[in-house]
Amino acid sequence: MVNQINKILRLSESLKSEKEPPYFAVPIVRFAKKIEVDALSGCWQWVGALNSGGYGSFDGTSSHRFIYEYLYDGILKDLHIDHLCRNKRCCNPVHLEAVTRLENNRRAAAMITHCPRGHCYDAENTRFDKNGWRHCLECRRNRRNYWKERSDEYGLRN
Ligand SMILES: [Zn+2]
Ligand SMILES: [Zn+2]
Repeated sequence: MVNQINKILRLSESLKSEKEPPYFAVPIVRFAKKIEVDALSGCWQWVGALNSGGYGSFDGTSSHRFIYEYLYDGILKDLHIDHLCRNKRCCNPVHLEAVTRLENNRRAAAMITHCPRGHCYDAENTRFDKNGWRHCLECRRNRRNYWKERSDEYGLRN
């Protein structure tokens, strides 16, 4: 694995002085031409086109997914590839990890500590749905009360 990664890095280095490989060049060569290693973070910064989500776009998939599948001989379809470095354009396989969607949602959520209205996502105030998303209970209570007041206003039974 480390061996494979080093080979890709050497290939990428050798391609720096060359012109863009043609579309019919093998995918790994076209991929290697589009990465730039960031000396500080170690990220393989994708310098090619990006998709609407801000990830590298490559051969009908995302560039980080391409390299992960290339190195691990394909991955299960329902697995999400998580960026441990939180850099969407990074394609360094060492910075990537295949996780379930649930685990990915949980990790993304852990970085956000408060709901959009500023209530803390602590144990008492948080409900998890089946997809792993958190919901603010205080907001839910406030929404409930709002609608309750609307019916109260008209003297209707709640
Ligand atoms: Zn990275
Ligand atoms: Zn809230």
